[in-house]
Amino acid sequence: MELKKYILREDEIPRQWYNILADVNLNPPLGPDGNPVSPDQLAPVFPMNLIEQEASTERWIDIPEEVLSVLNIWRPAPLVRAVALEKALDTPARIYYKNESLSPPGSHKPNTAVAQAYYNKAFGIKRVTTETGAGQWGSALAFACAQFGVECKIYMVRISFDQKPYRKIMMASWGGNCIPSPSNETKAGREALEKDPDTPGSLGIAISEAIEEAVADESGQTRYSLGSVLNHVLLHQTIIGLEAKKQMELAGDYPDIIIGCAGGGSNFAGLSFPFVLDKINGKQIEIYPVEPAGCPTLTKAPFVYDHGDTARYTPLLPMHSLGHAFVPPPFHAGGLRYHGMAPLVSQLVDEGLLEPKSVKQNAVFKAGILAARTEGILPAPETNHALATVIDEALKAKEEGKEKVILFNWSGHGLLDLTAYDSYLSGQIKDIVLSMDEIAECEKIYADFPKPQHLKHK
Ligand SMILES: *Cc1c(COP(=O)(O)O)cnc(C)c1O
Repeated sequence: MELKKYILREDEIPRQWYNILADVNLNPPLGPDGNPVSPDQLAPVFPMNLIEQEASTERWIDIPEEVLSVLNIWRPAPLVRAVALEKALDTPARIYYKNESLSPPGSHKPNTAVAQAYYNKAFGIKRVTTETGAGQWGSALAFACAQFGVECKIYMVRISFDQKPYRKIMMASWGGNCIPSPSNETKAGREALEKDPDTPGSLGIAISEAIEEAVADESGQTRYSLGSVLNHVLLHQTIIGLEAKKQMELAGDYPDIIIGCAGGGSNFAGLSFPFVLDKINGKQIEIYPVEPAGCPTLTKAPFVYDHGDTARYTPLLPMHSLGHAFVPPPFHAGGLRYHGMAPLVSQLVDEGLLEPKSVKQNAVFKAGILAARTEGILPAPETNHALATVIDEALKAKEEGKEKVILFNWSGHGLLDLTAYDSYLSGQIKDIVLSMDEIAECEKIYADFPKPQHLKHK
């Protein structure tokens, strides 16, 4: 029997997160007055312990015991050598993936949901609000809140709410209250519905609704929680890459290429940031975030200051952005339909440390089907974006006759995304590509905002 999995013992789980802010310079988020936001300005939105973590420049941050004891329901996650996929591709490349689909909600997202629920609880917060696209984040936060006894309210992007009823039931089972966005419950929601009563919704609008509700609670016991983009979210995800590093050592290999799909950037960052540090220190690694051609934030949109949400409640963030009013076309990868990108990922792209790629929907699902038929796990549609690029690189290695080592993140399973597979298998998936004209139109919205500086890592 061939050995495929590299497994850490429970007590070998990393005890600290890697904070890349110790090694990378970032433009500050800007408040309404054009100055860097102060912690006090963020206090109605997030608990202070997370606000402090967001700005910390300590390289290693201890993972609280309470967080570890929930993470070990499914962590450490295995590193798997994709032997069957390699064989199917007849490639000399060695392909490894971190299997993040084994968490109870089925993706990497609980890595930060558990930490955020814990820090909110520790700060005395009773209730958190959030948005969700495909439903993975909403279910991750509902699961995490159940572990710590925190209430959870979720605004779910309308198109996903309609396409994925089972995610809503999952959230309800963990005690979460999930409603479609735009809703009539907030000013931001009512405005979006007035503009277009049939809108599919967007993450930008759902974020506005969730922030509005958190800030409006006069008791001071509600805060907002975000599933990607922010520094502290990416920090919590580094447990993926830190485990992977130990496991690659067990395998006696080191990656030449690292690949992850990127919506807001968190699973990609979680896997890659510990290796970015090696790259800064001189290692030769190619690192590819992969996004859909229908929402090409990193590959086609510029590096600017823009709001994280449609109603402009968030500070201006330095990031690649298609504009805060962008409503992406309704393709089947809800988790990758965000107008912006994590400032940290955007910064590293601006510096040339990462090389973003974009892929089209039919290639994406073709890759997912091949992966399902070889490796056995039905991937999340988001993961398929990474897989499409993994397959491209493995075939390139074959052409060049090179034994490349490819490491990628299997960010989630697709067992609640069957409608998407049904569309693909019945030939109904369209290749949506955003044109440069459409992008030029989107860019007008932040034309008058300040511009971030081009910085270099420390
Ligand atoms: C949410 C999600 C993504 C995209 O979010 P990131 O913050 O970019 O990681 C990718 N894969 C899965 C399975 C998801 O649920």
